Amino acid sequence: MNYFPLFFDLRGKSVLIVGGGEVAFRKAQLLSRAGAVLHIVAPEIRHDLTVLAAESNGITRRRKYVPDDVIGCHIVVAAGNDETINRQISADAKGRGIPVNVVDRQALCDFIFPALIDRSPLVVAVSSSGASPVLARRLRAKIEALLPPALGKLAAFCGRWRSVKAALPAARRRIFWEEALDGAAATAVFNGDEKAADNRLREHLRIFADGGAKTGEVYLIGAGPGAADLLTLQATRLLQCADVVIHDRLASKEVVDLARRDAEKIFVGKARNQHGATQKQINDLLIKRARNGLRVARLKGGDPFIFGRGGEEAASLAAAGVPYQIAPGISAANGCAAYAGIPLTHRNTARAVRFATAYRDDMTNAEHWRRLAEDTDTTLVFYMAGATLANVAKKLITAGRATKTPVAVISRGTTTAQKVICGELANIAAIAADAPSPALIIIGEVVLLHGFLRWFGEDSNPASPFASLGAQT
Ligand code: SAH
Repeated sequence: MNYFPLFFDLRGKSVLIVGGGEVAFRKAQLLSRAGAVLHIVAPEIRHDLTVLAAESNGITRRRKYVPDDVIGCHIVVAAGNDETINRQISADAKGRGIPVNVVDRQALCDFIFPALIDRSPLVVAVSSSGASPVLARRLRAKIEALLPPALGKLAAFCGRWRSVKAALPAARRRIFWEEALDGAAATAVFNGDEKAADNRLREHLRIFADGGAKTGEVYLIGAGPGAADLLTLQATRLLQCADVVIHDRLASKEVVDLARRDAEKIFVGKARNQHGATQKQINDLLIKRARNGLRVARLKGGDPFIFGRGGEEAASLAAAGVPYQIAPGISAANGCAAYAGIPLTHRNTARAVRFATAYRDDMTNAEHWRRLAEDTDTTLVFYMAGATLANVAKKLITAGRATKTPVAVISRGTTTAQKVICGELANIAAIAADAPSPALIIIGEVVLLHGFLRWFGEDSNPASPFASLGAQT
């Protein structure tokens, strides 16, 4: 190890920055975040740097550097590009035992700046020891994406609860915090509810001190329409800390595989003509497992709150007093539209979009169909309509929508098996009758854009008469 990482308390301490330009400003910004008092020396100093120095109670001196400038400073940063002066600053600081950094001149440095992820009070610093700052920055970006923005709040919350130390013996304390950081209190912190977090941690401590089980919770997770990389970072994080994963047919294997290997996986789906668990049984299962102290991930296809019965599951958890959180997902309409190159709204073509289903009761309600058919500048998206495609088309035509209205049926959207079949209301049932499920129907002029904007998967409509039309839109 060429450099040893240390975290330096700079609050209220004087730091000398020699330089008045962009580089000096960037270093000053970093150091001011740590509460340092910034003294700036340079013949010319940009305005924002003067402001920063003044805000930190530091002094700006518009003149050349002199050796006495380093006196009384805890660290020195040389951010100018005069090599002779840089050497001198380095020598002066070293002579007085003050750590020095000369930007981009590693040989003259006592310390170097890491790439930072600031979730204060939690801070992650990444360094390649100067070998490849670009690599360090890329790594930082990757780590950054993995760390929820509210992690700092969680660290601060734990800081406030250090009193747990007195309540538990050292060996139990670690287990307590392991559980707490994965548990309902941490979830409440992430959700911005510190009061609930305090209550949950207090409860957790009470049960834990009695030797009881930890408190569980449920995550209703939107698993997106299929492709695993359409999961949000939040969904992935929750899935990976779950002890139990409850999924159905719509959550792809790829997504379920992202769960911990040792997590119990329970399939509750219903394939067509096959009985799965009833909604009541699923609700009860979620409550029971959470009450056993487990973190339960309920994976839902697409978004939990769009034709996903997520509302019912949440309501039953709320009624049972089980803590839960809801992670939104990319709904099939969003996923399929994007992967088929069909904008759901488009200037001058579609001013609104409606998500609907063609499910039992809807089919016989004439008023429902009249309303769906009348707004010709509204894109219609039908979920769960595979088997009723012919009926949907017929109902819309009967209700007055033009037979030539463009229609796309998108099967297994966003996955490598995606198929997009285009036609018109009058003929779509004949062309797309065998479209494999799950399938989504998009109806409206925007479908014409598919020929022009398609980018994903094979073109199922090679002789698309729409391609040229799309180009003109
Ligand atoms: N909550 C889900 C919808 C559940 S209803 C969501 O927000 O997407 C199930 C219906 O969603 C299916 O019948 C089908 O119409 C649609 N669907 C889900 N995944 C799909 C996919 N990958 N491709 C096409 N349609 C899909």
